[in-house]
Amino acid sequence: MIEKIDHIGIAVKSIDDVLDFYRNALGLDLEGTEIVEDQNVKTAFLPVGESEFELLESTSPDGPIAKFIEKKGEGIQHISLKVDDIEEALKEMKENDVKMIDKEPRYGAGGAKIAFLHPKSTNGVLLELSERKE
Ligand code: ZN
Repeated sequence: MIEKIDHIGIAVKSIDDVLDFYRNALGLDLEGTEIVEDQNVKTAFLPVGESEFELLESTSPDGPIAKFIEKKGEGIQHISLKVDDIEEALKEMKENDVKMIDKEPRYGAGGAKIAFLHPKSTNGVLLELSERKE
C-alpha cells in the first residue's frame, strides 16, 4: 500500500533564503510554491528523482511550522509516504492501533489528500500519508 517516500518536509525560517542552496548548490529545480491557508504554511517543492523536498515556511507566528522551529530549530519536520488509497491506509492504521493526528484525510499542498500519524506511534518521527494523483 505504501509506494514510495513521496517527499521530505523541511521546516525553514525563509524559503527565499534557502532556495539558493537547493537550486544552485544542489542543482534542483523549483517545481512551484503554494500557500496552504489552513496550515498557515508556504510550501516549495523541489523534485529529487522519485521523491521531493518540501520546504515549509510559516506564514504566521503561531502556525505549526513556527512552533516546530521554536522548539527544535530548522530541520526535517516530517516524512511523507505515498499511498494509493488513503481511506484504505487509514483503515489499516486503525486496525493496527496506530495513533493518528488526522483520523480523516484533509487536503494538503498540490491538492493531495493527507493524514498525519501521531509521533507517539512512530518513535518520534512525524509521518504523513499522502494520496496524490499524478
Ligand atoms: Zn508534506
